[in-house]
Amino acid sequence: MFLTISTTGNERYPATDLGFLLHKHPDRAFSAGLSYGTAHVFYPEADDERCTAALLLEVDAVALVRRGKGKGRGGAPDAALAQYVNDRPYAASSLLAVALSAVFSSAMRGACHARPELPDRPRPLRIEVPALPARGGPGLVRALFEPLGWTVTADPVALDAGFPEWGDSRYVRLTLAADTLTVAEALRHLYVLLPVLDDAKHYWVSSDEVDKLLRAGEGWLPGHPEQQLITSRYLSRRWSLTRQARERLELVRLAEADDSDVEEIDNAVAAETETEEKPAPLAVRRRDAITAALRACGAARVLDLGCGQGQLVRELLEDPAFTEIVGVDVSMRALAIASRRLGLDRMGERQASRVKLLQGSLVYTDHRLKGYDAAVLSEVIEHLDLPRLPALEYAVFGAARPRTVLVTTPNVEYNVRWESLPAGHVRHGDHRFEWTREEFRSWARQLAERHGYDVEFTPVGPDDPEVGPPTQMAVFQAATAQETKAA
Ligand code: SAH
Repeated sequence: MFLTISTTGNERYPATDLGFLLHKHPDRAFSAGLSYGTAHVFYPEADDERCTAALLLEVDAVALVRRGKGKGRGGAPDAALAQYVNDRPYAASSLLAVALSAVFSSAMRGACHARPELPDRPRPLRIEVPALPARGGPGLVRALFEPLGWTVTADPVALDAGFPEWGDSRYVRLTLAADTLTVAEALRHLYVLLPVLDDAKHYWVSSDEVDKLLRAGEGWLPGHPEQQLITSRYLSRRWSLTRQARERLELVRLAEADDSDVEEIDNAVAAETETEEKPAPLAVRRRDAITAALRACGAARVLDLGCGQGQLVRELLEDPAFTEIVGVDVSMRALAIASRRLGLDRMGERQASRVKLLQGSLVYTDHRLKGYDAAVLSEVIEHLDLPRLPALEYAVFGAARPRTVLVTTPNVEYNVRWESLPAGHVRHGDHRFEWTREEFRSWARQLAERHGYDVEFTPVGPDDPEVGPPTQMAVFQAATAQETKAA
């Protein structure tokens, strides 16, 4: 099994910098014993203009089979001769990926103490893998590497050069070239995608594989168009692990996407403040209405779901009736701003013990959110794509099940009253939908019915006789809680 990484250079940026980046000196051969064989690194060429590092992996097929058994495949019929007589020792595969991470671990992390300026600089790179098992063929090879910036050549290898009529084997000869990637990125792409193409992991997949995948996939896997296939194959189609990975990738994606949200929220708040007639801007009226509703239901422990930059959290903190306030948001950036604005690090211990900020996505059930008196979803639901809304409904009303839930969302009918809003436009770019009063009510009533809540509606802002109020609020009370209260 064999792989080469080459780069070109000049006097200023000599190609031999590759040695620093890989932490392997071009003048010395390096060998490392792995549990299933030996990895060798050496440099077939190394000067200012061209430098090539080769990774050669000698696999001990017998050790591999023993190790496989030891790892607990259980009662699998391991004794089959096929275990010993197969392509594992010869083809690049998941073993090569493991070897990459074993011998180039610092390089993969992008660390280089000797020359700290090097790892972040993209360089001209060329990677060759003469025999890569590629289930899915050259088409899939391209679909996996091209979105990452590689120019891909994947030539099928004939089953037998002497008998072309036998057709192609499942191997390709792979060449990757790029000028825009760093060595660390290249290694991390290979580490994940070689086993994905091989699609036959040699070792038992355990839950720390999800961590490994996400670490190696940082910066490129969350947005990759083949993310699902990559995740599923990398985790050997183990459904629970795949789901875990997808959820965590989704969090990353949302957190990144929401960086732009935060600006939009700021703009929206500013816009509301400007366009809304005096005396109080709509955002302030909304918080007042929410606080009043929370007091009315006697809530002490409150969740602010999709808390953004923490304006409501700050307001609730001022009332000692609220003994515990938890702000939850998917956006790390919003939470960082919230924490700074609330002055969490300067707060006295007593005050600090009343407030917590958690990162999480509301479309997944989250045990941390169980057992609260009330939850607020203020101007949050319209930020979700409609097909994801049922997931949030279940996570909040089915799993977390606070006694009271307050939901506010814009009333689209009122948009004609915003002078600055062109006809047919939503209030800001990240709103995936805006509902009429009737749409909101019918959604809320069905939701209440499904999860055993009663629901009432309250206008927020001036209640226009024709088009209703700018914001609509639904107050859900768990049916059983009401009975208890009435009793
Ligand atoms: N509640 C605040 C902020 C509303 S903006 C207010 O009333 O002013 C919507 C917020 O929902 C943003 O902070 C966004 O990051 C958050 N959000 C969007 N989708 C989310 C999800 N799936 N999980 C958690 N928070 C989400």
